[in-house]
Amino acid sequence: MNDGYIERLGERHRAAFHGPLADWFKAVQRPMPWRETGPDGRRNPYRVWLSEIMLQQTRVDQARPYFERFINTFPTVETLAAADLDEVLKAWEGLGYYSRARNLHRAAQQIVETFDGQMPDTEEAIRSLPGVGPYTAAAVLSLAYGVPLAVLDGNVIRVLTRVFTIEDDVTSGRTRRHLQVLADALLDPDHPGRFNESVMELGATVCTPSAPSCPSCPVNDVCAAFAEGEPTRYPVAKKKKPVPHHDVAVGVVTDEAGRVLVQQRPTDVMLGGLWEFPGGKVEPDESFAEACRRELKEELGVEVEVGESLDRIDHAYSHFKITLHAFRCRIVSGTPVHHAAQPIRWVTVEDLGDLAFPRASRHLIDTLIAREQNPTLF
Ligand code: SF4
Repeated sequence: MNDGYIERLGERHRAAFHGPLADWFKAVQRPMPWRETGPDGRRNPYRVWLSEIMLQQTRVDQARPYFERFINTFPTVETLAAADLDEVLKAWEGLGYYSRARNLHRAAQQIVETFDGQMPDTEEAIRSLPGVGPYTAAAVLSLAYGVPLAVLDGNVIRVLTRVFTIEDDVTSGRTRRHLQVLADALLDPDHPGRFNESVMELGATVCTPSAPSCPSCPVNDVCAAFAEGEPTRYPVAKKKKPVPHHDVAVGVVTDEAGRVLVQQRPTDVMLGGLWEFPGGKVEPDESFAEACRRELKEELGVEVEVGESLDRIDHAYSHFKITLHAFRCRIVSGTPVHHAAQPIRWVTVEDLGDLAFPRASRHLIDTLIAREQNPTLF
């Protein structure tokens, strides 16, 4: 059951992917800190795992400095396991998708407790780690241990659907399962890591979404979409629904000493464990200032006077967008309630930099710092 994908695969495809594509990759691959090998000629599984998690939703040039800083702070799986979650989130701050950092931390603890500090080398064991799905398992096992498993990411899907002119909707689970079977059958079992990296690199740099460089592609001899003359018809994907948008009102509550009130998000929600300014979604027919007053009453049990507007920040997450409206606030009655799951802290503007915040809040912090340093400009 593969909807005929395997029937399209011939020896000429394997010859092109295992020969010219591998040679091309050896010539063009860029040195990366996670590609370094040890004296035994093998890659460090911890570094491979960390890089694969970072690169899931982040471009290589953006991930690289984060990788180097993270590895300097947590050079081994043991140091990562022993760290506080706050430290890990701080090292991850700015990369987004913070569940990746929380899962890395929990997985490191599991590796130390259950696997004696060694990254597992079987599919079943590695898939037991939080945050390790089929893609990460195949990537780490093939790159670090030479296990013959093919990875399937957006770049690989684009290359395969073009080479084999696959018309099915790639957003469907069924199509992806069939593509996985096809990728496994095309894999070079003697060099699975190199095969995986070379197909991903081809998709990232040559077989790009809107302008593939087919004349210089090392597998163009066997590419059916190139022969058809319309490679950008593939992959076929159903139209996405419009991305929802929410207005969010937050209060920058200050005390007499000029310290700012911040609150930590529960660990089991999106952006869990990060700090934020108290506030929430604006209801229909509510002004931003009214929403700010209501949210602070509901979340912290305080009545506030909502003052000047400090900032307006647009930010996009993977499934929705927000506009953050920030207001200066002053407590007129009550004392902020401290919930165990959502601790609060009073922090000087200067010390806000020591805590991990989502990107939108980080923009607001920059505004607060600029205002404190140049009060006459505002
Ligand atoms: S020939 Fe063109 S469409 Fe085919 S794999 Fe190469 S770059 Fe992609």
